[in-house]
Amino acid sequence: KEELNMIQGALELRTKTVEDVMTPLNNCFMIHSSAVLDFNTMSEIMESGYTRIPVYEAERSNIVDVLFVKDLAFVDPDDCTTLKTITKFYNHPVHFVFHDTKLDSMLEEFKKGKSHLAIVQKVNNEGDGDPFYEVLGLVTLEDVIEEIIKCE
Ligand code: ATP
Ligand code: ATP
Repeated sequence: KEELNMIQGALELRTKTVEDVMTPLNNCFMIHSSAVLDFNTMSEIMESGYTRIPVYEAERSNIVDVLFVKDLAFVDPDDCTTLKTITKFYNHPVHFVFHDTKLDSMLEEFKKGKSHLAIVQKVNNEGDGDPFYEVLGLVTLEDVIEEIIKCE
């Protein structure tokens, strides 16, 4: 029965999209680019429990960087280091994918790439203005694996 579920889940990778399994932007734990890495901010990051934290500028939909918790290993909270110092130093690439990317191609990309997190976006051409990229959420390797091994 479990095996059947896994096969089912594996087959569905071809039809399901990253939008179906992502964590929506509203539920994403993120950090503002102008943050100072003092004791409070570092505690919040640690308490969130997440390993990869998108960094936004001005508004939450504008993601400019990703902070890895391990980047904080040499940060002393008493120094009040700015987040920018750290993100500039490590300079991790931000990986964007379109919302309609199928889970099988996403899995391939995760296997190829170094990062196991991608920011989900779509082209928004509703309304009168120019089309723009709209960030919908984030997806990780775990979300794709979860689709395969889900128990119902
Ligand atoms: P790891 O397991 O590699 O330490 P993690 O626990 O931070 O990383 P994942 O295991 O990749 O995160 O993902 C677990 C779930 O948490 C997934 O559903 C993913 O979408 C979600 N997630 C990951 N990072 C964040 C974040 N910064 N804010 C909100 N949700 C997140
Ligand atoms: P993350 O990707 O969440 O930052 P990580 O790169 O430390 O974590 P994983 O992605 O979980 O580690 O694992 C990558 C590979 O490295 C796996 O094959 C795992 O077995 C191996 N690995 C993880 N930690 C160690 C370690 N302390 N010593 C040797 N190999 C390790």
